[in-house]
Amino acid sequence: MSAGRATTAVVIGSGFGGLALAIRLQAAGIQTTLLEKRDKPGGRAYVYEDQGFTFDAGPTVITDPSALEELFAAAGRRMADYVELLPVSPFYRLCWEDGYAFDYGNNQAELDRQIAAKSPADVDGYRRFLAYSRAVFEEGYLKLGAVPFLNFRDMIRAGPQLARLQAWRSVYSKVAQFIEDDQLRQAFSFHSLLVGGNPFATSSIYALIHALERQWGVWFPRGGTGALVSGLVRLFTDLGGTVHLNAEVAEIEMAGEHATAFVTKDGRRFAADRVASNADVVHTYGDLLGGSDRGRTEAARLKRQRFSMSLFVIYFGLSRHHEQLAHHTVCFGPRYRPLIDEIFRGVSLPADFSLYLHSPCATDPSLAPAGAGSYYVLAPVPHLGNADIDWAVEGPLYRDRILSYLEARYMPNLKSELVTSRIFTPADFKTELNSHLGSAFSLDPVLTQSAWFRPHNRDDRIANLYLVGAGTHPGAGVPGVVGSAKATAGLMIADAAASPA
Ligand SMILES: Cc1cc2nc3c(=O)[nH]c(=O)nc-3n(C[C@H](O)[C@H](O)[C@H](O)COP(=O)(O)OP(=O)(O)OC[C@H]3O[C@@H](n4cnc5c(N)ncnc54)[C@H](O)[C@@H]3O)c2cc1C
Repeated sequence: MSAGRATTAVVIGSGFGGLALAIRLQAAGIQTTLLEKRDKPGGRAYVYEDQGFTFDAGPTVITDPSALEELFAAAGRRMADYVELLPVSPFYRLCWEDGYAFDYGNNQAELDRQIAAKSPADVDGYRRFLAYSRAVFEEGYLKLGAVPFLNFRDMIRAGPQLARLQAWRSVYSKVAQFIEDDQLRQAFSFHSLLVGGNPFATSSIYALIHALERQWGVWFPRGGTGALVSGLVRLFTDLGGTVHLNAEVAEIEMAGEHATAFVTKDGRRFAADRVASNADVVHTYGDLLGGSDRGRTEAARLKRQRFSMSLFVIYFGLSRHHEQLAHHTVCFGPRYRPLIDEIFRGVSLPADFSLYLHSPCATDPSLAPAGAGSYYVLAPVPHLGNADIDWAVEGPLYRDRILSYLEARYMPNLKSELVTSRIFTPADFKTELNSHLGSAFSLDPVLTQSAWFRPHNRDDRIANLYLVGAGTHPGAGVPGVVGSAKATAGLMIADAAASPA
């Protein structure tokens, strides 16, 4: 549908959600401006470049390419003209301290062989788990992943399916219903952590990630995730949209219950008929709308909710590419549930860690100088509201502990090969990304904070203010926020058509 020519929109934040929304609006004929605080677009998908190394800061596991293709198609373009996606195999290598390793991928015979070698009874259990995961994927992702939940009626309508799929149970309890072996239970339940969900508390609906990966595979853009961000920015500007970097919004200007403009910290004013925020939801209501009644009440309500954990990330370049590593490795530590409990509820930094290790040169050697390797490793850690850690002091010490651990178990000679490194801590999530409590994934995706219970894609009171990204429905992760953009764009385009500027 094409809205009236004169309709205008401004979107704050150029994360995947903000970019995807801006593209859909511009493609529908709504003249759209994107305002980004930082000097580069992408949000959590920022890119660091240093001495010939390219480091994607955030998302590296790209799933559901069909949602991205659909976004390009909605704009009348072909994704292949903007970015190339390369298949990743195995999807992940999962490693434990006792030396056990499981290569998780899309080859059923290979999966069966590995499961049978570990726990013969679980071959059948895995098939039943996959069938369950596919059923939740149909209901939770294909049917509900990109539709806005604005009314409780929408939630009630989804109720019977959610009940049938036992959505009140946790991901782990569902996996454990089908699978006996402890390490295989970890292998098939850790996925919710990728979108900030505790496998022991997050709704079993999130078991759909497994089916989603089996359905469409795991991909990596040639040139890194940053190349996908650049492709989306180019698509948006090709369509006639405008991007302003270094444009941090300080205030959403209101006239009664109507948002009129965004005002940046340096005093620029961007007026529009409709405004959308891809920024953190507490920041949006508490800081940008803090002068209004609605902003204050909604921020106070949101602050009482549970926020997802934070992350500690080390980006590092080595003089050597470690061929023994898969593109994605999950290094499970000595404890699973107790460690996750401490990460989500603990008041200090746990003594042990589980890590995700990214070795993108396994798929695309162009991300480092010839023969060298570009990496990042991340550890989930408590957010700033739970653990009052002085990251300026603790960060370098934690980095050294993690690098020593990697050197001892996964990357021999790491320290002597180290060319460059930098860290990103929960404090950086707060200051760089305006993220409440330094949370890496916004609101914890438990059932009582999902769908209608999550902040709505359109504000309940300010009829021309919309949300997009991890803090609104359906939630975090690239497929999630791209789905949120589809839901929000649908509302904005319909609203613009119903009441043109
Ligand atoms: C380290 C890490 C690894 C991850 N790995 C994966 C993965 O492999 N696969 C996956 O699917 N997901 C992954 N995720 C999750 C995924 O990256 C996020 O859920 C998703 O990218 C969030 O997108 P978003 O649209 O919510 O916006 P964000 O990326 O959060 O961007 C919001 C933007 O708003 C800007 N902003 C904030 N305040 C203002 C303001 N006042 N004015 C102007 N701009 C402002 C910020 O600078 C930022 O650019 C990962 C996340 C992290 C942190």
